[in-house]
Order: sequence, then C-alpha cells, then structure tokens
Amino acid sequence: MLFVKPDRPVDRVFLHCSASDHDHHDDVSVMRRWHTDPEPDGRGWSDVGYHLFIRKSGEVQEGRPLTRIPAAQAGHNTGTIAVCLHGLAKEKFTREQFASIHDLSRQIDRAYDAGVTIHGHCEVSSKLCPVFDYRAVLGLDRFGAIAGPGSDPVGPSVVEAPAPRPVVRLTDQGPAVTVLQSLLNRRGAGVVEDGHFGRGTLKAVKVFQAAHGLSADGIVGPATWASLVG
Ligand SMILES: [Zn+2]
Repeated sequence: MLFVKPDRPVDRVFLHCSASDHDHHDDVSVMRRWHTDPEPDGRGWSDVGYHLFIRKSGEVQEGRPLTRIPAAQAGHNTGTIAVCLHGLAKEKFTREQFASIHDLSRQIDRAYDAGVTIHGHCEVSSKLCPVFDYRAVLGLDRFGAIAGPGSDPVGPSVVEAPAPRPVVRLTDQGPAVTVLQSLLNRRGAGVVEDGHFGRGTLKAVKVFQAAHGLSADGIVGPATWASLVG
C-alpha cells in the first residue's frame, strides 16, 4: 500500500500481533468487531485500535484512520502509528507479511524524514507482542531506527526488555547522561552529548516530558526513560 502521511505528529511506530492464527480472524473487520463490540464481549471502542492490519497474504488493510491517535499501547499512544500483523506463533508469520511491514516501515520513515523509530509493543508492556523478531525483520538498530548502510543492526537474537536505568537530574554526570542526551538528540533536541546534565539537557528533558504527557520536572526517572527508549 501507499502510505499517506497524516496531519498529526508521529515519532514512533508500534508493531503488534493479533494473537491468533485462525484463518477466519485474518481480516481487519474481525479485529474491528473485537474492539467495537460492547463490553464484556468487546472493548466498546469507537473503532479498531490499530491503524493498519497485515494479513497473512501480506495485504495491508486500513483500520482506524491515521489522522486519529491509536488505542494500542496503553500510556504510549500519542505520536504513534500502530500496525497489527495477523498471527500468534512465531513461525506462522509469513514472508509476505514481513515484506509488507518492511516496505511500510521504510515508507513511513521516509515520510517523516527518518524521524521515526520502530518498536514492538513488548517494549512498553509486559506482553510478548508482536512475538516475531521485528528488529531482525526490519533491520533496526538498538534505538529502533532503520539501520542505514554501514550501521550495525542488533541482529536476530535480541528482543530485550529495556535495561534498568538510574534516575538522572541536573548536575549529574556519567554514561547514563550521555545515553540520555543521545536519546534526546534522536528526537531532534540538539543537546551536546558530553555526559554532563546541564541547563541545555534540562530544558530538552522538560520539553520531551511535556510532549509525552509526563510531569515536566526535568528529572529522568523510570517513566521518562521508558518513553525515551520506547
Ligand atoms: Zn500489542
């Protein structure tokens, strides 16, 4: 499909799986029913939570309009596009699906001038979703960016939970601050990556926190790290 950039800021794409391998679930209309049917059978939502649904054939179906924020990653929906691949068992996802998500992720990345990173739902939840090794399939680096020529993708074996990180704040120094600065710069902050948490870094952290619905206190704790890494 041809990706048309919505009039909405997006900096992350999240990948999901439908948690089913049944043929009769291989259509966005089924997912839409699950999400819009009234509770307790469905979720009672106004539309399917995902923007795009990829069938086993590789066909990409449209779900929720891209102009709307998805309902897909609790606490991490703003600024995202949510894509669901039909499947559950790792070995039952198809090459056609992988080719589609590969093509789609590159179209999205180009549409946003390489300003998006791509993630699994598992990075911001306790779920295994999307189950398959999306970093290897998409050739992502450790930040979730599409790896360019000469870069070093993480390779097929790694789908790690984010490492625990220390709380950092103004006047702190050290490697964790450098990592913070590099994550901020991946989102266009333009701070000096010197490992010193000064006024410039403080300002960038506060801007990031405010933009992601976090309390803009300039202190980088678990929630801010999760948003930065996720
Ligand atoms: Zn998911």
